[in-house]
Amino acid sequence: MNAPAALTAEDATLVAGVRARERRALAKAITLIESSRADHQERAHAVLDALLPQAGNSIRVGITGVPGVGKSTFIEALGLHLIAAGHRVAVLAVDPSSSISGGSILGDKTRMESLSQREEAFIRPSPSSGSLGGVAEKTREAMLVCEAAGFDVVIVETVGVGQSETTVAGMTDVFVLLQLPNAGDDLQAIKKGIVELADVVVFNKADIDARAAEMAAAQMRSALSMLHAASPNWQPPVLKTSAAKKEGIAEFWQAIENYRQTMTASGELTARRRHQAQAWMWQLIDSGLRHRFRDHPGVQAALPALTQTVESGATTPTAAAHRLLNLLNRFF
Ligand code: GDP
Repeated sequence: MNAPAALTAEDATLVAGVRARERRALAKAITLIESSRADHQERAHAVLDALLPQAGNSIRVGITGVPGVGKSTFIEALGLHLIAAGHRVAVLAVDPSSSISGGSILGDKTRMESLSQREEAFIRPSPSSGSLGGVAEKTREAMLVCEAAGFDVVIVETVGVGQSETTVAGMTDVFVLLQLPNAGDDLQAIKKGIVELADVVVFNKADIDARAAEMAAAQMRSALSMLHAASPNWQPPVLKTSAAKKEGIAEFWQAIENYRQTMTASGELTARRRHQAQAWMWQLIDSGLRHRFRDHPGVQAALPALTQTVESGATTPTAAAHRLLNLLNRFF
């Protein structure tokens, strides 16, 4: 096992800059983390190791919802509300669509314009390349750097693309589902299992049709009461907001505070973070092993022919996987 790399003089300055809450240093540290160059990765690990003691002191809030539900409007209203209450707010995004489609759903620059101009806010779009696992890993690390830079609220936003909700729920303290007040949206979220991840459900755009919003909220409450609650101490509340009119934002934050207090008192928040750290480690081990496997000269030599025999039915997938994995033993 390699010892963590020592900080270069340049990176020691970077670390000091992050601790001193300098935005440029923060942005630079995240860029280093996001780089896929091997030497940058090594430096990034050293920077993260150095910053780790200052990380962890934030509430990590995951927010998801379909495109158009009002995520950026909501986060902007929330961010401004929190800044007015003395908080410092970092907003990060996990958007695997950029690697799937080449275009980003979350990435356009005009989002959260007022919030982005505030000194107490830091907004960073999603890393633009890599698998969901890769994007998530970099976002998780960026979150730690933001915490070391004194941001006490970190919001991680994602859009419903495949597994991204589970991934973001797995890196945050509290997971929020933004919904549109219509039953179709409800059913989608319930079917996809996203409702089960939610610690708080919010019906946004309640200003458009208050009655419809109340009905949707009531339906959701009854759906939630039938689900097995993730915690014996917390029944996810269902709220209504109008992000556009900045209504319901204070009540929303109160619900997050309640959640934090309850889950801290029961020890579940600490347990959740511990579990997340362990799961993260295993994810990294899994992906590291996968890389080593693919890069292994013996595997590279045998893989094309074996893949063909599996495709043609001459070898079973089980036998082929066994043979390929055995190749690792010879060289490890
Ligand atoms: P996102 O794709 O989830 O980030 O959604 P946006 O925040 O970009 O919002 C999509 C559209 O809905 C924009 O035109 C917003 O102005 C509008 N919008 C957002 N929140 C509300 C709301 O509470 N009420 C109304 N009437 N419109 C909203």
